[in-house]
Amino acid sequence: MNAPRPVIPDARYGERLARTQALLHERGIAALLVGVGADLRYLAGYVAMPLERLTMLVLPAGSRPSLVAPRLEAMAAAATPLVRTGLVDLVAWDETDDAHAIVAGLLAAAPEPSNQRVLVSDRLWAMHVLGLERVLPGRGLGLASEILGELRMVKDPDELALLRLAAHAADRVVAQIAAGRLIGRTELDVSREVRERLVAEGHESAEFAIVASGPNSASPHHDASDRVIGAGEPIVLDIGGALGGYCSDTTRTLWVTGSNPGAGPTPEFRALFDCLREAQAEACTAVRPGVACDAIDAVARGRITADGHGPGFIHRTGHGIGLETHEDPYIVAGNGEPLRPGMTFSVEPGIYVAGHHGARIEDIVVCGRDGPDLLNESSRDLWVVAG
Ligand code: ZN
Ligand code: ZN
Ligand code: ZN
Repeated sequence: MNAPRPVIPDARYGERLARTQALLHERGIAALLVGVGADLRYLAGYVAMPLERLTMLVLPAGSRPSLVAPRLEAMAAAATPLVRTGLVDLVAWDETDDAHAIVAGLLAAAPEPSNQRVLVSDRLWAMHVLGLERVLPGRGLGLASEILGELRMVKDPDELALLRLAAHAADRVVAQIAAGRLIGRTELDVSREVRERLVAEGHESAEFAIVASGPNSASPHHDASDRVIGAGEPIVLDIGGALGGYCSDTTRTLWVTGSNPGAGPTPEFRALFDCLREAQAEACTAVRPGVACDAIDAVARGRITADGHGPGFIHRTGHGIGLETHEDPYIVAGNGEPLRPGMTFSVEPGIYVAGHHGARIEDIVVCGRDGPDLLNESSRDLWVVAG
């Protein structure tokens, strides 16, 4: 547990920048404008504060990039890998400057033709998008994911190492919660404990801690409530956080028996869970290069539908994961994107019977060269616990 945590080396950011610029050039896009968020962390190694003041990496297709930052953030910006290694110029702006106009000025000074499109990061605030539209009249704006989606989707070995550490940390929390007291406690209380344990196990932040007990287990994104957990009911535990910037996300389903041996899973729930367990395993096993994302969804859905639980599987099978919990590629019908080695995503089918109960099993899976590499290692069986 005390092995040194991998870090993304400085040189990697330069490589990512060069690959991004090559793609922009190839597709006739003038520039990429990246605001605060995961795209900025990916390209510049900069975790900036999300503020109304504009911070923006201005990346023209073929000329020198700049990092535009408010004066009071300039010291933090200067310490980031791309600025420190001299690959990017830091442009600090003062409180009374028009930051959007500064970005427009940088684009005007770049040699790219002004009739080419400009891409903005997908999570850029509307106030900045509108501000940029005002100073860049006539420029078509598009989404950065057009270029960055395919780059961020395929993880390098350092990213995979961090995702694996995060997954194992989350696995330990599941085991700790399952071994602890549950009966008589509220979902909220258990959820708070999950968050504390995620941090204690190495995450810098806990992002979510779904504790869905009894009939609440039928709601996939149930918000932990003041419902008191009892014996003879299921709990869907779906937890995750960020470790070294990379996200964990795992779901296990528990059944709480209490001291009454007759309070074990009902035959109805057991049948539902066994079907889910097989569907999830089959979908994971189907992962290999060249298989389309929607084919993985079809494997899980086909199995669940064949067993008569189809109407209860009300969401897609999974989502990509990396610097964000939900990112490309989405494991959903209609996404014909073929899997490539290094793509990392969740496989998380669920079956929900409103008003009664539900179950979900979620693993983070890497598409390896010869097949699936499951980052989570805790048991996927129904965790029957005394609680
Ligand atoms: Zn979810
Ligand atoms: Zn989840
Ligand atoms: Zn998930």
